[in-house]
Amino acid sequence: MNNLLNIDILTKTFDDMPVGVGIFQVTDLDDIESIQYVFMNKVLLYEMRKTKEEVFGKKIMEVAPEAYAHEAGLYVIETYRKVAREHETINLGLVQYSNHMVAGTYECSVHHIQDNYVYVMLRNVTELEKAKNELEKKNKELSEFAYIASHDLKSPLSNISMLVKMIESDYGETLDEHAITFLKFINQSIGRMKNLITDLLEYSTVGNKKEVTQIDCQKLVETVEQDLESTIKETDAQIEIGTLPTLNGYETELSSLFQNLIINAIKFVKPGITPVISITAEKDNGWRFAVKDNGIGISTENPSEIFSIFKRLHTEKHYEGTGIGLAHCKKIVDLHEGKIWVESTPGEGSTFYFTIPQKESA
Ligand code: ADP
Repeated sequence: MNNLLNIDILTKTFDDMPVGVGIFQVTDLDDIESIQYVFMNKVLLYEMRKTKEEVFGKKIMEVAPEAYAHEAGLYVIETYRKVAREHETINLGLVQYSNHMVAGTYECSVHHIQDNYVYVMLRNVTELEKAKNELEKKNKELSEFAYIASHDLKSPLSNISMLVKMIESDYGETLDEHAITFLKFINQSIGRMKNLITDLLEYSTVGNKKEVTQIDCQKLVETVEQDLESTIKETDAQIEIGTLPTLNGYETELSSLFQNLIINAIKFVKPGITPVISITAEKDNGWRFAVKDNGIGISTENPSEIFSIFKRLHTEKHYEGTGIGLAHCKKIVDLHEGKIWVESTPGEGSTFYFTIPQKESA
């Protein structure tokens, strides 16, 4: 036997690997029944519930004839022959096995070694896939719950708001100072609750429309700027927009992302300071954006905590808000499979970075 296929060397090399490795000899390239096992590491033998004595040097047809009768098994065996013939690597992705010996989901690829020899790499991802599906289901349920809960809260809140207005108009003249102050507080709380509901609703619907389009970020940010015109005028904020790219992404969500970051950059400044904001982008395995401000900065030991829902570093009294904005931003960046983080010098300003990876260069 060729040195490369010395069983002892193979066992020492591959036995303790966490993936299944198996080497096959395709004796006759035109006959899938001629394929035989040369070597299998511990993981693969375990998956097959076999010992090496039962398989090494034996034909698949002798050891596991049922593989030929089973669609997934036949597909993999056919792939051994194809790879042996065409000297290429074939990534089969996820393969579902369900026969009496093997059952589950496997990530599988077949590689060429030399004439008539191929090897397969197999990873049992059954539990991982189950957990992934479960997680997706739970996330969906959670989003639906947040949507329904916030949606249903709107109507009693509108009733309260209407009743307060009726009290004000019907009894306005008879109300004493205390009652007027209480009504003012109720109105403030209603306003805050409305903001929370709107933000929660937006947060829970990120990516619902799941449509990737080509987006001109320059135009997108200019539109966001127009939408924020009154806030920008009120605060005299100066916003400098660098050259921004065109890329593939979720338009509504990206618009929300820029809007949230710009609103925060305007909001979190020291009183009396004019907000100066710059928005730039650099190519980086897709694009890396930076939204830089001259605000109060972030003085927490762990700045990444501000991306958690409801996390705020300031009280409502100093800077109003719901604590959902940056969690919303993170959800949007996650949807694009990017990353978001902040670098900041307290008292001088912060720069929020986020990446939007691109499959092909856009
Ligand atoms: P909100 O703005 O409603 O409070 P966010 O989720 O947008 O909620 O932000 C969370 C917290 O992160 C804010 O309360 C604030 O403490 C901090 N933060 C966000 N953006 C900035 C910024 N540009 N400069 C300083 N602090 C910021």
